[in-house]
Amino acid sequence: MTKKTGWGLGIGLLVLGLLSALLLIPRVEFMVGGGLVNLGFRLQDRLSKFDFEHDDSITADQIWEELKEQNKLASSVRGVFPRTARHPVVAILACMDARIDISELVGDTRRYYYVIRTAGSVLSPAEQEMLELAVINGVKIIVVTTHTDCAAEGASADPELREKFPALTALMDERVRRVEEFMARPTIRDAIAAGTLQVKHARIDTSTDRLVVKEVHYDAH
Ligand SMILES: [Zn+2]
Repeated sequence: MTKKTGWGLGIGLLVLGLLSALLLIPRVEFMVGGGLVNLGFRLQDRLSKFDFEHDDSITADQIWEELKEQNKLASSVRGVFPRTARHPVVAILACMDARIDISELVGDTRRYYYVIRTAGSVLSPAEQEMLELAVINGVKIIVVTTHTDCAAEGASADPELREKFPALTALMDERVRRVEEFMARPTIRDAIAAGTLQVKHARIDTSTDRLVVKEVHYDAH
C-alpha cells in the first residue's frame, strides 16, 4: 500500500466512522430524515413539466391516469418498506389549502398526529366528535391552526364572494364559536383540567410553514 492510498483509506474510514456515529444519535438521525423530506419536496417541486402542470390542455382523464400511476409507484415502495404503526398523540386542525403540508410543517414523517383538514379550519360538530374520540384514544395536544392568505377567510371578507359561497362563509362566521363549543365539551374540559390535554392555537405562515403560536383564553363555561 502506498503512502497516498493509506491516507485516502484512513480519511475514508474516519468520514465513515463520523457518519455512522452521527446516524446513531437520534436527534441527528431525525434531522437528517427531515432534511430528506425537504429534499424530496425540492426534487419534485422543480419538475413542472412532469405531471400536474398548470396546462389548460391537460384533460381530467390524463390527470386521473397520472394520479393512479403515481399511487401505483408510491404504494409499491411502501410495500417494500412498511412503516411502523404509530399511536398519534397530537391532532392538528388545518385548512384544506394545498400549500400546507403537515409533514413539511413539522419535518416529520412518522405520523404522530391526526390531521383534520377542512375549508378554513372550521371545526364542525362531526370534526369536534372526531377530535374528542382522538383525545379518548390518547391525544395530548391539539393544535388548532389558521393560515395566512386563506381563500376561505378572503371569501368571507368579500361581499361578492359571500353571495356566491353562502354555506362556506356562514361556516367561517361560526369558526370562533365552534372552537369555543369544542372547548366546552365535557370530555375536553375535563381533560384540560386534569392536565392530560392541551389545546394550542397557531397561525401558519403559508409561505414558510412557520407556526406562529397565539395565546387564546376561553371563559370556562
Ligand atoms: Zn385556507
